[in-house]
Amino acid sequence: ASGYSLLRDPHHNKGLAFNEKERDAYYLRGLLPPTVISQDLQVIYLAFHQVKKMMHSIRQYQVPLQKYMAMMDLQELNERLFYKLLINNVEELLPVVYTPTVGKACQKYGSIFRRPQGLFISLKEKGKIREVLRNWPQRNIQIIVVTDGERILGLGDLGCQGMGIPIGKLSLYTALGGVRPSTCLPVTIDVGTNNEKLLNDEFYIGLRQRRATGQEYAELMHEFMTAVKQTYGEKVLIQFEDFANHNAFDLLAKYSTTHLVFNDDIQGTASVVLAGAVAALKVVGGTLADHRFLFLGAGEAGTGIAELIALEISKQTNMPLKEARKKISLVDSKGLIVKSRMDTLQHFKKPWAHDHEPVKNLIDGVNGIKPTVLIGTSGVGRTFTKEVIEAMAALNEKPIIFSLSNPTSQSECTAEEAYTWSQGRAIFASGSPFDPVEYNGRVFVTGQANNANIFPGLGLGLIMSGAIRVHDDMLLAASEALAAQVTRELRQGTDLPTIQKYKKDFSSYCSRCLGTRQPRPHNLVKYAENCMYDPAYQSYSPHPDLSHYNGLMFD
Ligand code: NAP
Ligand code: MN
Repeated sequence: ASGYSLLRDPHHNKGLAFNEKERDAYYLRGLLPPTVISQDLQVIYLAFHQVKKMMHSIRQYQVPLQKYMAMMDLQELNERLFYKLLINNVEELLPVVYTPTVGKACQKYGSIFRRPQGLFISLKEKGKIREVLRNWPQRNIQIIVVTDGERILGLGDLGCQGMGIPIGKLSLYTALGGVRPSTCLPVTIDVGTNNEKLLNDEFYIGLRQRRATGQEYAELMHEFMTAVKQTYGEKVLIQFEDFANHNAFDLLAKYSTTHLVFNDDIQGTASVVLAGAVAALKVVGGTLADHRFLFLGAGEAGTGIAELIALEISKQTNMPLKEARKKISLVDSKGLIVKSRMDTLQHFKKPWAHDHEPVKNLIDGVNGIKPTVLIGTSGVGRTFTKEVIEAMAALNEKPIIFSLSNPTSQSECTAEEAYTWSQGRAIFASGSPFDPVEYNGRVFVTGQANNANIFPGLGLGLIMSGAIRVHDDMLLAASEALAAQVTRELRQGTDLPTIQKYKKDFSSYCSRCLGTRQPRPHNLVKYAENCMYDPAYQSYSPHPDLSHYNGLMFD
C-alpha cells in the first residue's frame, strides 16, 4: 500500500485535489505536481474546474462509443470525478452511458473493456456462488442489477456482453438516485447464448454454449438468489434487467414473496409510462378511463404497462380490474390478442384476450379499435409507419403516441416522423432520446419515456425505507409523483409532457416509500436528500477507509 496505489484506486483518488497533509500521510510526495488545493470550497471549485476540463476532452470524440470508453476510463481513474461530470452534464452524457450508446457498447463489449467491471457468474460457478460473491471487494451491498443477457434492449441475446446494462443502470442509481457507488453491484449471469454470431466469434467473452434452460437455469438462479440474501441480508434490492420474458415473469413472481425484487422492464417501465399518460391527459383531456389504449408488443414492457394502467383505472373509478383491462388492447407478432387465441397464449398475455374478431396487423388494429393512445413496446424499429400515424391523427385531434423501444434504431418511429405525419398534433414520447424537431415553424421537444425516470428514485426509496418487499402501491406512488412533476413542467410552458427530469428530485417520490419507515422521519424529502451520495471530494485526514494506504500497517 502506498501513495502510488492510492492514485490508482478509483474510489479514493482525488488527483490534484490531495492537500499537503494528505500528500504527507499517504506517501504522495513527488507523485503529483506541486499545486495544492485546500480542503473546503476550493476542492469543490477544483472538482468543477476538472469537470470542465474533462468535459472538454470528452467532447473531442466524435463517435459515441469513444465517448463511452472515455467515460469508463474516467470511472476507473477517479470515481467521484466521473459522477460529478455525469451529474453536471446529465442531458449530454446520459445517452453515452445509457441508451442508445450502451447498446453499441454491449454489442462490442468484449473488445472495448480494459478491466472487467461487475461480477460474472456463469454455469462454471455453480455450487460456488457464495464464494464468488466474497471475491467482490465490497461487503455492504444495497442494490444489485442482474441480467442474463438474453434480451438486451431491443437488440436480442447478447449473452455475457449484456454486462454493459447493469453497469449503466447502476451508474444512474448513483448519479440520479444518489445511491453510494460502493453499495452497487452489477451482475451478469452467464448460462450461454443462442446468438450464433457470438458463438462463432473467437473473441466472445462468455460461455460458448447454447443457453441452459429448465431446471439447470432455475437452479443457478436459485443459488444466486439464495446466496445474495445470505451474504447481504434481506434488505438488498435485486433489480432484474433485460431477461427474456419467458423467464422474467416467472422470476419476478417466484422471488417477489421472498426477496426485495423488482423487474425494471415490467414494473419500472409501467410506472414511467403511466406517469407519461397521466401527464399527457392534462393536454388532451379526459380521465384514463375515458381513453382507449393500443399496444404494439405484448411482452414485459407492454403487458407491464397495461396492467398498471388498468390498476390505476380501477383505483380511480372503482371499476373491477377485469373491466378496466377491456380499455386496453395489445398486438403481438401474431396480431391482436383475442379470445380465440387463448389456448396458445403465454400466461402473461391471457388477461388481455378480449372478445374481438382476429386482426392480423397493427393498422387494422388501429382502425378497428380506434385508440386514443398508441404505445410501442415491440423492440422492432419503424413499425409505426406513415399509415399508422396518419390513422391515429385522423382518429384523434391530439393522438398520444409513445415509441418506447430502445435503442434509437428500434424505436417504432422517430420524433420527426411522429410530428410530421400527424401534422404537429401528436403528443409524443420515446424510450431513447431524440433531438428537438422543427415542424411548421414550431420546435417540438420530445420527452423521454424511459424507466430511468423511475428506478433510481424508487431504488433509493426502497433502501432508505428498509423495505423488504416491493408492492404495487409503491409503483403507483412513484408514478403519481412523477406525473405531478411533469404536469408542473407543462404548466411552466413546455409544450410537451417532457418526462425527462434529470434532477435529484427523485427524493420527492421515493419519500412515498419512506413513509413506511418506522419511526417515520419528520421531513421525508429532507431526509431523502440527506441520504443521497454527493460526489464532491471528502477530506481524508485521518480517514479510516484509507488506513491501508498510509503505510503505518507495515511499520
Ligand atoms: P419482450 O418481452 O420480448 O416483448 C416484445 C413483444 O413485441 C412481444 O410481445 C413480441 O411478440 C412483440 N413483437 C415482436 N416483433 C413484433 C412485430 N414485428 N410486430 C408486433 N409485435 C412484435 O420485450 P420487452 O421487454 O417488452 O421489450 C420490448 C422493447 O421495449 C425493447 O426494445 C426494449 O428496449 C423496450 N423497453 C423500453 C423501456 C423504456 O423504459 N422505454 C423499458 C423496457 C423495455 P411475441 O410475443 O408474439 O413474440
Ligand atoms: Mn431494460
